[in-house]
Amino acid sequence: MAGEPQSDCLFCKIVVGDVPATIVRETATTVAFRDINPQAPTHVLVIPKAHHTDAAALATEAPELAADVLRAAGEVAAQEKIDEAGYRVVFNTGAGAGQTVFHAHAHVLGGRGLEWPPG
Ligand code: AMP
Ligand code: ZN
Repeated sequence: MAGEPQSDCLFCKIVVGDVPATIVRETATTVAFRDINPQAPTHVLVIPKAHHTDAAALATEAPELAADVLRAAGEVAAQEKIDEAGYRVVFNTGAGAGQTVFHAHAHVLGGRGLEWPPG
């Protein structure tokens, strides 16, 4: 069911501490941790604690939680001091776009110049 923990989900395991992560921020409903394979000097993932498969499902199933994730992304950017230079928030959605973990997550990327359009 939407929002319920999934036993085979890597990010659900990070939420409960069964898989270690470098957590940089935690709120009542979200966790933010460093990406294990960073694509920029600052690369943090922000996830809802509840399991939703992608950003669109999250926004449909739990809109207030989607807002929590976006707010936390901005707070992480400020905490990491990339907010003034500018940063990117990315939700890869679907395997064809590079989504490999099907628990909604925002990539917060910054600390270098970011080209537009992205690859
Ligand atoms: P995506 O490809 O958009 O689904 O993003 C999944 C991200 O999770 C990738 O950028 C991976 O590098 C990252 N990742 C995978 N396993 C871990 C882990 N154990 N801790 C932190 N980040 C991870
Ligand atoms: Zn999950």
